[in-house]
Amino acid sequence: MATVYSVNRLMPELPEVETVMRGLRARLEGRRIVRAITTRPDLRWPMPLNLAQRLTGARVLGFRRRGKYMLMRLEGGDSVLLHLGMSGRMLIGPARPNTETLHEHLVLETDDGWRVGFVDPRRFGSIDLVRTDQEDQHKLLMGLGPEPLDDGFSAASLGESLAGKKTPIKAALLDQKVVAGLGNIYVCEALFRAGISPLRLAQTVPGVRAGRLVPAIRDTLREAIAAGGSSLRDYVQTNGEMGYFQHAWKVYGREGEPCERCPGPPGCAGVRRIVQSGRSTFYCPKTQR
Ligand SMILES: [Zn+2]
Repeated sequence: MATVYSVNRLMPELPEVETVMRGLRARLEGRRIVRAITTRPDLRWPMPLNLAQRLTGARVLGFRRRGKYMLMRLEGGDSVLLHLGMSGRMLIGPARPNTETLHEHLVLETDDGWRVGFVDPRRFGSIDLVRTDQEDQHKLLMGLGPEPLDDGFSAASLGESLAGKKTPIKAALLDQKVVAGLGNIYVCEALFRAGISPLRLAQTVPGVRAGRLVPAIRDTLREAIAAGGSSLRDYVQTNGEMGYFQHAWKVYGREGEPCERCPGPPGCAGVRRIVQSGRSTFYCPKTQR
């Protein structure tokens, strides 16, 4: 049975991408790609013309994540840049006769008899090649802000990027130039933990609030990555079919429910849902200011 790393109708954010990358690393690192197949010339953008040819025969040296992007580094100096987009997922299973799954756009077969497929029905994902020593100059990576789990991301650096910004803090944190890898879900979760209203203007966050926000972002991401990691261990042990990891969000998707800091009705109305820039925001109006 193939293992499906996917995100059910939700766009993958940093923790999901990290989990998928670790799954790929466990299966592919050190292996040689004996066969590569592409089934169409483009996803969101055209794929490199000779992609299959350049992948065939290459050994996989390692993986790196940057924001919501994965980089698979190959012997010979190429890196494959993978982005899951909105609907992309990776299928991992034993090699089988040449039958691509519907919407499977790239297939890799390894020298130890495994098969990895990239499936993306809506084709918002992307696959590209970049020289490993120039990864950060790729057009999709060069504008990215700091990695939230790296030491370079601090209350001071976040405060600097938010200074003077008259957009709501929610929108500012979704901007990949401010911090890389966050999306709608984990921004809502981090703002809840930090006790900051998603409506607050970004320019008022530097200082004390940024000091709460940075650890809130880190804790939110680390817990989600840990949940993804335990799902990977299950996969390794059972080698069966597995959906994406179930993760309990504190406010996301919980409209009307009491949050963990409030008693709920009748004392308070519970988690509120509003729409900001066309997307749902969930927050606690009582404890997020
Ligand atoms: Zn509450």
